[in-house]
Amino acid sequence: MIHVEGVTVVYSDGTRALSGVDLQVDRGEFAFLVGASGSGKSTLLHLVYRELVPTEGRVIIAGQDVASLPRERVPYLRRNVGVIFQDFRLLSERNVWENVAFALEVVGASRREKYRKVPLALELVGLSEKEQSFPHQLSGGEQQRVSIARALVNNPAILVADEPTGNLDPDISWEIMQLLTNIADRGTTVVCATHDRVIVDGMRRRVVSLVGGTIVRDARGGGGYDEP
Ligand code: ADP
Repeated sequence: MIHVEGVTVVYSDGTRALSGVDLQVDRGEFAFLVGASGSGKSTLLHLVYRELVPTEGRVIIAGQDVASLPRERVPYLRRNVGVIFQDFRLLSERNVWENVAFALEVVGASRREKYRKVPLALELVGLSEKEQSFPHQLSGGEQQRVSIARALVNNPAILVADEPTGNLDPDISWEIMQLLTNIADRGTTVVCATHDRVIVDGMRRRVVSLVGGTIVRDARGGGGYDEP
């Protein structure tokens, strides 16, 4: 589903963020991406949702080489990749239902499609009761659930999470990670960058470790934050 081959990313100021990265993540697989700040985690995630194209090497997402993708096909790829962030990025003046529906509006979904898909996404994250609430009326964990519903409402093949529990308490972080692993177990490929050592050690899922823009370890069978 995600195929990264010999990838190097050099930013315009000359910073080399990734060097010779090879990574394959299969359908329905869940992988943690760990590493110190500045090790290249966000850069690697940016490649997956084509915020960036590689300087060298190839990135193939759901069978498509992102670098050779014609401009008009980019929205189609983006629909196939849901993204969630540490700071949730919800629209403060819209309620929960409208925040999730927004992801359908930007891809031109009909009213009928919205009324069908939004309730399903909210049910998946356990927030059906809160559809009329506004973001400021929700806890951090609930806000992250809304952003997960928004990321999933287009039924993407891939979900990318960049430090999704960075602003949450340990108990809530655990619930959010459980939700993300359940989503992977339902067939969505999930890649999750995190600093949360306790969660990584507790989950026993695949762990890919970056140091200075290079993958130094890939515990495919499930590992801890530091162990092979
Ligand atoms: P992480 O997510 O692990 O903290 P990043 O991918 O954000 O790491 O950053 C990797 C390296 O690339 C760092 O040295 C960072 O300063 C640099 N970097 C990130 N974004 C840019 C950018 N837009 N321009 C220049 N350098 C950048």
